[in-house]
Amino acid sequence: MTIEDRNEASELRLSKHAQRLRTWEFICVTCGGHFHPAALEYSHIAPRKFHDDGGPQCRNCHAAFSDEERDLPYGPQSQNPQIESIGRYLLALSAWFSRIAETIAEFGRWLMQLADALPENAEGAVQ
Ligand SMILES: [Zn+2]
Repeated sequence: MTIEDRNEASELRLSKHAQRLRTWEFICVTCGGHFHPAALEYSHIAPRKFHDDGGPQCRNCHAAFSDEERDLPYGPQSQNPQIESIGRYLLALSAWFSRIAETIAEFGRWLMQLADALPENAEGAVQ
């Protein structure tokens, strides 16, 4: 296999990861970490039998989300599956937002500590 063949194979794998993750931004939507795309998974907001929306999550965050879903059904159970799906989607989205809000607060606290630790007007150096 030539170097060109390897590069082409690598680009093809990257493209397949982007297609699977539905993005070229290889960042976990929950913890904000940058990961190799092979270490990311497409996580559905609610189980896919309810809706197909989602985003990339690192395997750790996806496992934590999925673990909590194990106590709930993976598909509509009621006589009104569309209403149930919308309700389940909104509850799951609320859980996503809660986790994302925790990450935003954590990032904010980190920035505030960094602001105190850096010398005066250090932001001018970050351009
Ligand atoms: Zn993560």
